Amino acid sequence: MDKNNNPKKINNFKEFVKEFGDIDGKENLEDIPCIILTGPPGCGKGTQSKIISKGMRWKHVSTGDILRTSDDKDIKKMMKTGELLPDELVGKELIAYLKDYSKHHDPRGFIFDGYPRNLAQRDIFEEICRVNKLKLVYVFFLNGPEDLLKKRIINRGKLSGRSDDKSEKAFEKRMEEYNEQTLPMIESMRNGGNFLEISATKNLEDVSSLIFKELNEI
Ligand code: ADP
Repeated sequence: MDKNNNPKKINNFKEFVKEFGDIDGKENLEDIPCIILTGPPGCGKGTQSKIISKGMRWKHVSTGDILRTSDDKDIKKMMKTGELLPDELVGKELIAYLKDYSKHHDPRGFIFDGYPRNLAQRDIFEEICRVNKLKLVYVFFLNGPEDLLKKRIINRGKLSGRSDDKSEKAFEKRMEEYNEQTLPMIESMRNGGNFLEISATKNLEDVSSLIFKELNEI
C-alpha cells in the first residue's frame, strides 16, 4: 500500500472523480446538504449518525460499513489490523455505493461517517461535492480521552465480534492512524466553516441534541 499518498496518483484520482464521480447524472443532488461526523475510534460517530439519520431522514453513509460488506480478502485483512485502506480503493467503493443508492432514492441529505479520514480523502471529498453540487453544511468532531475510547471499543468487541474491536493491538493501530492521518485533516477543517467539537464523554442524548440544534439552525 502507498502510505505516503503519492500526489501524482491522487491527482489522477481527482481526474477520475471529475470524469466518473457524477453520482446520479440528473443533477437532482444539487444543494443537497451533507455533514461529516469525525473523531477517533470509539467516539460514537456511528451511533450518532444513526440517530441523526433517523431524525433528519438523511442517508447515513459509513465507509467502515461499506468496506465491511466486501468479500475481498485483502480488505478484510487490512481492516482487522486497524490500518487505513488505500484512498483510491475507498473513494471508488464510496462512489459506487452512492451511485447505487441514488438510482433508487431521492436523498434529502447525507451523513458521512468515517469519510474523509485524511488530507488526501478531504480533497477527493471536496471534488465529489463539487461535481455533484452537494453542500457540506457542518463538520462535527466527537472527541474524547483515549482510555475511555479504548474501554468502549473493547466492550463493543465482546458483543459485536467485530474483528478490529477485539484486540488491543488493532485499537492501538487505529489510534496511531487517527493521530497521524485524521487529526491533521480535522485541524485543517476547524477554521473552514461550520465546525463543532463535542466531548464524547457526554451522554448519547446530549451529543445528539447539540447536533440537532446546529442542524435546525441552518
Ligand atoms: P472506527 O470509526 O471505530 O474506526 P469504522 O467502522 O469507521 O470504525 O472503520 C473501520 C475500519 O475501516 C478502519 O479502521 C479502516 O481500516 C477502514 N476504513 C473505514 N473508513 C475508511 C476510510 N475513509 N479510509 C480508509 N480506511 C477506512
